[in-house]
Amino acid sequence: MIRVAILGSTGSVGRSTLDVIQRHPNRFEVVALAANQAVELLAEQVRKHKPGVAVLSKENGLGRRDDLPPARWSEGREALLEITEAPNVDVVVNAMVGSAGLEPTLRTLKAGKRLALANKESLVAGGRLVVEAAEEGGGELIPVDSEHSAILQCLEGYEMSAVSRLVLTASGGPFRGWSREQLQDVPPSRALNHPTWAMGAKITVDSATLANKALEVIEAHFLYGIDYDSLGVVVHPQSIVHSFVEFVDGSVLAQLGFPTMELPILYAMSYPERVPDGVLQTFDPVKASPLVFEEVDRDTFTLFSLGERAGREGGTSPAVYNAANEVAVEAYLKEDLQFPGMGEIVSEALDRLGGKPVSNLENVLEVDKEAREVSRELIRLLKRKA
Ligand code: MG
Repeated sequence: MIRVAILGSTGSVGRSTLDVIQRHPNRFEVVALAANQAVELLAEQVRKHKPGVAVLSKENGLGRRDDLPPARWSEGREALLEITEAPNVDVVVNAMVGSAGLEPTLRTLKAGKRLALANKESLVAGGRLVVEAAEEGGGELIPVDSEHSAILQCLEGYEMSAVSRLVLTASGGPFRGWSREQLQDVPPSRALNHPTWAMGAKITVDSATLANKALEVIEAHFLYGIDYDSLGVVVHPQSIVHSFVEFVDGSVLAQLGFPTMELPILYAMSYPERVPDGVLQTFDPVKASPLVFEEVDRDTFTLFSLGERAGREGGTSPAVYNAANEVAVEAYLKEDLQFPGMGEIVSEALDRLGGKPVSNLENVLEVDKEAREVSRELIRLLKRKA
């Protein structure tokens, strides 16, 4: 029995993880659930899945649902972090949103557990620290992101020395083919309408700006220890091919399937074993046809190019990119910022705070905070000008 804790259980990946676990009661057991503040949904999940521990990470006095045994309820960040170190947890699924997921990521890996990572921001912001935490504690870092899961599956049985290039696929989001002019006034409601994936608001906007793909490039750099010159991205609107691995002899492997988060989630929990799952859709190449691949429009999707720049600069830049982007997305969703404004904020934040060395968690948290402050200030200035 694999004992699973889910951080961010009420979000899209968290809910899918529970669906997967429910289909495999003889293999997986939910031992702890944590949510940010969705107390009613968390209570419902506790009733259904009966974990021993339930945590609301936001301290607001709502976390006392003693009417819902057997779970021990608590609230606050420390309670959330305790889950990552609990002796009865084998796998921590980190499905939190944003860089708030960094500390739980580090603690899980230092505790020597398997981390099924859906919170790509923690790897982007923490980068080398995350890799070092895994080395130090013996924890296992397994991606839940579909592209990185695809790469992991293609790499089975190979050393990285056999790999010449990784190519991530990108759906292109709802604005594929649009011009800069067309994007000028596009409202959040349009950005939230993703063609192939149903996800939370933050990641859906990131998919529309292609910031999500830039975050994934940085994620791949750290996960697979590969340099940016050997990391490509191609737009593939059908989201059937989840990524490519090119080997030194010129052979290319890809992992394919209809878009579903449940497969990468199942694989991250059971890796390297494959678990029979009759619910996942049978692949039909005819239904999947035709498959189209295009170049990324780097001039229009400036957040993508900025993310590539941040990755290559290293140091504080990926953390600044990530934090500034989170603030910019929030402002865009509140209509405090226009679509192209998101790139302007991130660009300015990178100019001011990027490229400095990072040696510990405090450095990362500090620059994360600074980047948020700078970005909020820039947004206020822009609003005043408008
Ligand atoms: Mg992805």
